[in-house]
Amino acid sequence: MNGRYDLHAHTTASDGTFTPRELVEHARRRGLAGVGITDHDSTDGIAEAIETGKRLHVDVVPGVEINAEYEGKEVHVLGYYFDLDSGSLQDLFRKLRNERINRMERILQKLDELGIPIERDEVLAEAGGGAVGRPHIARVLMKKGVVQDIRGAFDHYLGKGAPAYVERCKLSPQEAIRAIRDAGGVPVLAHPGLVGKDALIEELIPAGLLGIEASHPDHPTDVRQRYTKLANELGLIATGGSDFHGAGAEHRGELGTVTVNRSVVQQLREKSGVF
Ligand SMILES: [Zn+2]
Ligand SMILES: [Zn+2]
Repeated sequence: MNGRYDLHAHTTASDGTFTPRELVEHARRRGLAGVGITDHDSTDGIAEAIETGKRLHVDVVPGVEINAEYEGKEVHVLGYYFDLDSGSLQDLFRKLRNERINRMERILQKLDELGIPIERDEVLAEAGGGAVGRPHIARVLMKKGVVQDIRGAFDHYLGKGAPAYVERCKLSPQEAIRAIRDAGGVPVLAHPGLVGKDALIEELIPAGLLGIEASHPDHPTDVRQRYTKLANELGLIATGGSDFHGAGAEHRGELGTVTVNRSVVQQLREKSGVF
């Protein structure tokens, strides 16, 4: 049996709109054999997803997406099959989530100076207890009618270079990779096409990188092929996923529109020190 897996999806544990249970139910409706839960800086959705997956016979791949920075660019590192109870990794997530709150408060201060008052609690309510991020502020701006859609919120206020933009904390991709490896997991560079600097891939191998996300909605077909080939040449695992964020304007791709087959999941498991 060769079912399809979508290895990149977000839930309400970060900036997705589906709860972990809803996401796994959706994966089943979409006919997937399995789904990777890769929330930003949080593993809070994984237990519920695994429980639902057992009931619905959907194989849940535990994961995370850590936001790092390299030469002024955002670099995301996915991690799979790590020890969920790893103290050092959970400490890192806590630190990153606190920094997310700090950043949110500084953005709200800037918006306030621009004559757009937003309460901290409005954003936290939008985040629903998950890792807070700019998409949550964007949704509040949309609900208040300040902007028409999420894209507008980023273009006019929240995106890099916009008046309410605030730099995020500077975790290096190497640090993110090492944290995942230390917890027995498999680090994968997310959507390298969005980073746009392929030399970084080789630079990250000594730090412990084990895979690259060759297939992603923001990679056209030729880019996917190029990264799959590069992964083979470098001995890295070529993963893929839709980066699904649920219903709403900011969603990247529908769940299951970018998938890999079971052999990729097998490779991830083999590289994992704990699963
Ligand atoms: Zn990402
Ligand atoms: Zn993502």
